[in-house]
Amino acid sequence: LAPILTIDGPSGAGKGAVSARCARALGWNVLDSGAVYRSVAAAALERSIAADDVAGLVSLCGDLDLVFEPGPDGILVRLDGRAVDERLRSEEVSVMSSRVAVQPEVRAALLALQRSHRRPPGLVADGRDMGTIVFPDAPIKVFLDASVRERANRRYKQLKDKGENVIFSRLFRDLEERDRRDRERAVAPTVPADDAVVVDSTRLNLDQVVERVLAIVRD
Ligand code: C5P
Repeated sequence: LAPILTIDGPSGAGKGAVSARCARALGWNVLDSGAVYRSVAAAALERSIAADDVAGLVSLCGDLDLVFEPGPDGILVRLDGRAVDERLRSEEVSVMSSRVAVQPEVRAALLALQRSHRRPPGLVADGRDMGTIVFPDAPIKVFLDASVRERANRRYKQLKDKGENVIFSRLFRDLEERDRRDRERAVAPTVPADDAVVVDSTRLNLDQVVERVLAIVRD
């Protein structure tokens, strides 16, 4: 079996950027499991399948043609051969993805697809339950965390740079609420695996986090 590094953690901790940079450094494949849920959500919206239509959602899970590639600043996603990063990041798809992700049948239907990305020479898997549920036997597990304030700050700067009009207090509150939902949800809560190394990136920049994670891999 190919080696695997799982990187789990809350929203905005920088998992995508860290995973892509580590995958490039190691020459390994990469899996963005958030994009898997986002793709199901996008397909459901396109075909007017409701978030509680479990049978409809499960049938979508069977024919997802997803290809991931580590880009310079994040994981690049192709769905049916097309670049879909923009569409998958839309607010509409984000909200729908968190609704489809709480359906246990949907999660079960996506297990084989996620596991099929474990190919030589290795895989970096980014998500919430990579180390706990999808790849429990992974030899290297990282839980990437940062304070809510720091994650809200990073997001605020990103949106500002894009010229968007954002209110910090609102962003902070939304993130706090989403954290609580993700941590406390009944299925696949965002918690570190027992054997995960917790990396707190609150006071580290991207280069420092990547260096620390690669040191864990090489250890
Ligand atoms: O990480 P990202 O924001 O792209 O995830 C999109 C949605 O999919 C979130 O609601 C997240 O909770 C869910 N998700 C999940 N399990 C994963 C990855 C993402 O439930 N392994």
